[in-house]
Amino acid sequence: MTTRIVIIGGGQAGGWAAKTLRDEGFRGEIAVIADEPWDFYERPPLSKSALLEDAALPRLFSADLQQSLDLRWHRPLRAEAIDRAAKSVRLSNGERVEYDRLLIATGGRARLPGDAWRRHPQVYTLRHWQDAQRLKARLRQSQRLVIVGGGWIGLEIAASARRCGVAVSLFEQQPALCMRSVGAEVSQALHQLHQEQGVAIHCDCGALTLEDEGGSPVIQCGGRCEPFDAVVAGIGVDLNLELARDAGLAIGRGIVVDAQGRTTDPAIFAAGDVAQHPRYGISLQSWAFAQNQAIATARAMLNDEAPGYDEIPWIWSDQYQHNIQILGLPQPGDRSLVRRSAQGNLYFSLGPDGVLNQLVAFNDARAVKLAKRWIASGRDLSQTPLDDPDFSLMSLR
Ligand code: NAP
Repeated sequence: MTTRIVIIGGGQAGGWAAKTLRDEGFRGEIAVIADEPWDFYERPPLSKSALLEDAALPRLFSADLQQSLDLRWHRPLRAEAIDRAAKSVRLSNGERVEYDRLLIATGGRARLPGDAWRRHPQVYTLRHWQDAQRLKARLRQSQRLVIVGGGWIGLEIAASARRCGVAVSLFEQQPALCMRSVGAEVSQALHQLHQEQGVAIHCDCGALTLEDEGGSPVIQCGGRCEPFDAVVAGIGVDLNLELARDAGLAIGRGIVVDAQGRTTDPAIFAAGDVAQHPRYGISLQSWAFAQNQAIATARAMLNDEAPGYDEIPWIWSDQYQHNIQILGLPQPGDRSLVRRSAQGNLYFSLGPDGVLNQLVAFNDARAVKLAKRWIASGRDLSQTPLDDPDFSLMSLR
């Protein structure tokens, strides 16, 4: 019988798992080990409203709801080791917490280009609430910001910094922005969007060196030296896989789990960024995956027959006045079709069988809803004039 469930990780996945366990009627003990002192919170606002306004902690659940979950917090503490034979977790204060079922939802940590960057007081990363508070305070005193990394975090911070009137230079080592998650046309559209807002973008930037001049960071790139007030690194994350690896669980591009979130140990589950997507074999690192895969996993922790997680990858990003939604994953050899309209453009990636692999929609949530159904049903769109703005997509409902 399951009487004690331990969750390692106080992020989005840990929070939704805890809530789901209670929603499903679990009345045993839920212990949460978290290395931050806060209640569960949302991360998407950290690169947006949390940088622009004096916003409160963007709680995942209201204080009352959180209270009603009746959790036993171990915070701020780190889980240091999992003893699978004894079914216990050792904490950084030496305490041991026993479990019947364990959920690993440890997320990731922001990367930095090197140790010199870690030591410089004006180098920032953005992963936690505290990071957003620090960066917000610095942006208010800054005129020139450099962002290293042209992925989603870099672009969202660039948009926020421009709204604060800060001049932004952005360096990306790949030839195009967000190149690993979207096709060339979308990268180009993002480039243009940010350029129009005054961001100086340097793709294919090569290695950057950080130096210091009287406390200010100086970036050296290809013989050019530029001083800035602050540096933000948005160059991806390293997943916190050490606990799972040391415990001997199978690791691929994340902790290997089945559709129910179960690892290679039937008493241990994984959710969120650290869980390798059961279908796509990657770490998806999206808000929707962290929430919904955690919900499916929590249900499976209580019921072996619970349905597995099976959703189409989806992320969104708000930049300037644009809402950008990305549904699905592009595949090598896809055919691209672009539909341009005054409202916003749509970028389709079709596989050789005419099935949609990805839609990127600028300001068009209705198209995303439709596309979800096309992908789910494997609809052949090879003969459909998706790129003709006069063709009604609604006719394909
Ligand atoms: P990311 O999306 O992986 O982008 C990082 C970019 O920085 C990559 O293009 C990377 O190139 C480049 N890079 C790496 N090292 C570099 C260097 N030394 N100099 C210059 N460029 C370098 O990661 P992120 O933007 O840091 O975001 C972290 C995670 O959070 C990602 O999984 C992201 O999807 C997620 N996130 C999602 C949202 C959203 O859903 N709206 C918002 C923010 C963050 P390589 O590919 O060659 O490494």
